Amino acid sequence: EAKKSGKNTYRFFNPEMQRTLEKRIEIERELRLAIAHGQLRLIYQPQVDNEGRLIGAEALVRWQHPRLGTVLPGHFIPLAEETGLILDIGKWVLEEACRQLDTWKDDPRFSKLTLAVNVSAKQFYQPSFVDEVVAVLEKYRLPPAMLKLEFTESMVLEDTYEAIGKMLALKEVGVGLSMDDFGTGYSSLSYLTRLPFDQLKIDRSFIQDMRESSDSALIVHTVIALGSRLGMNVIAEGVERDDQYALLKSFGCHNYQGYLFSAPIDIRQFETLLT
Ligand code: C2E
Ligand code: MG
Ligand code: MG
Ligand code: MG
Repeated sequence: EAKKSGKNTYRFFNPEMQRTLEKRIEIERELRLAIAHGQLRLIYQPQVDNEGRLIGAEALVRWQHPRLGTVLPGHFIPLAEETGLILDIGKWVLEEACRQLDTWKDDPRFSKLTLAVNVSAKQFYQPSFVDEVVAVLEKYRLPPAMLKLEFTESMVLEDTYEAIGKMLALKEVGVGLSMDDFGTGYSSLSYLTRLPFDQLKIDRSFIQDMRESSDSALIVHTVIALGSRLGMNVIAEGVERDDQYALLKSFGCHNYQGYLFSAPIDIRQFETLLT
């Protein structure tokens, strides 16, 4: 309750809210320094095909906090988005992923791999976003198709008109475009034909609810058929069990990612998978 408690002071907060706020400000201050202090790192979750062969990875950011240890993106990406720090983080992630691709591009063991990077809405809607992607690809002279950008449906629906323009420009550049967490937003199917996605990534909630002849299995089967008919690659995320993998294969799914194959791992571990 916002009660006037003195001449110039309003009491909006109880002590607990005060502490929460202070903690938030502290974390924000630390996050601001995280990049400069080299506390961000990427880990890599393998993606496989129907024969279990490695086809690439998704890069996932971690914050190596000096006191708190490894902080998951769920605990700092929302704050980063609110404060605009996501722009610096997003740039760092893109740069780091491309720096990694640079070490792969001339090695026949790695050059066929793709690396997917998550893009946040704020980052995507920056006027300079497409130019930044082009610049980093040129900096490392990368084949654009090695890089994949993941967008969520809620994010492209924020301003579909602008999103279409930007995505067409990115497609022209030649980077892969993946729709992350498909099925979780308030989506209309019509945008699937209007947005130039190369890949549809079925959200893990559907994969986890999937049982033979369950509603989720029906949805997953239908989404795989739809994506395929629209000429997209379909990947299932959050595959944890053999029976899910088998069912997805029988539905005609193309690619897979999940703990069944591997948790996200550091770059050394990832590279040894191929050697
Ligand atoms: P996402 O893009 O959907 O990434 C997949 C998340 O599912 C990852 O969580 C991954 O560790 C987790 N996962 C993978 N396989 C399994 C599985 O078999 N079972 C279960 N239960 N979980 C699995 P993580 O790394 O905590 O990332 C969470 C979200 O944070 C990501 O969801 C993505 O939206 C966001 N994120 C991660 N890295 C970045 C980044 O660099 N930039 C931005 N903007 N967002 C990021
Ligand atoms: Mg993702
Ligand atoms: Mg996802
Ligand atoms: Mg997801």
